[in-house]
Amino acid sequence: MLATGELAYRAERLEALYACCELCPRKCRIDRRSDLGACRTPAVPVVASWGPHMGEEPPLSGSRGSGTIFLANCNLTCAYCQNADVSQSPGAWAGDATTAMDVARIMLELQACGCHNVNWVSPTHQVPALVRALTLAAGDGLVLPVVYNSNGYDAPEALRLLDGVIDIYMPDLKYAAARTGSALSGVPDYPAAARAAIAEMFRQVGAAWEIAPDGTLRRGLLVRQLVLPDELSGTSESLLWLAEELSPDIAVSLMCQYRPHHRATQLAGYPGLRRTVSRDEWKAALSALARSNRSRHTLVQQYRG
Ligand code: SF4
Repeated sequence: MLATGELAYRAERLEALYACCELCPRKCRIDRRSDLGACRTPAVPVVASWGPHMGEEPPLSGSRGSGTIFLANCNLTCAYCQNADVSQSPGAWAGDATTAMDVARIMLELQACGCHNVNWVSPTHQVPALVRALTLAAGDGLVLPVVYNSNGYDAPEALRLLDGVIDIYMPDLKYAAARTGSALSGVPDYPAAARAAIAEMFRQVGAAWEIAPDGTLRRGLLVRQLVLPDELSGTSESLLWLAEELSPDIAVSLMCQYRPHHRATQLAGYPGLRRTVSRDEWKAALSALARSNRSRHTLVQQYRG
């Protein structure tokens, strides 16, 4: 795609979306070059931090780390966000805009560090700038797989422009009920939007995994399912949807690491968010996984209470 000019063309098409932003299902339709939408992010890359990360799933972290680039701000406002200092504090990053060349240099440094991939964390609202940076980095020798690590609230129209650009999709599938997405993450249509986005990701890379000789993932889809207390995540329903509408062979990362971060303890009407997932809730999630999923790549966190 670099040699044919297709990668630069995709960057141009994505950058054009900044003029009337519909990069995510919020569809703010503002000009990001002069105005700020719900994600409070301008049309230049704003990177919060970056570096090799051993805390991702083993097929991504491998032995030398996943090359994470944490993008500042977010298009969701999750009450329990565990990265609120990065995602929910737009004022903190207002002056930290960087250039595409800066981000390209970061990608190349992550490759020089030996990272197995370049992992864009929360890329949805900044993806045009990231693809522009990728064209520069690829021109300077970047060959690592690119991971699109999102909250799942992505616009299929923008994702279609990433076909062939992204090697590994790792979206969340946060909720199965729209009212929960509205109360906990501030958007009215999370399940429908995330399902449409994941369907597009699946169309691009399928359920099969391509694995490198060192055992790390080179190409594929891994859907993250964070189990929430009181079944707020709708895990059973989401896993059933994934199996019936897309494929039971899609790899899932089932996670029990929920902790009451950010505003979780102050949210009226959701007392379950003040605690961790109970052993019984975790067992129910495991049963749902066994019923609906048969991928040999599916990953399950160890329950620690
Ligand atoms: S990416 Fe930001 S400005 Fe664009 S539609 Fe989403 S929230 Fe609005």
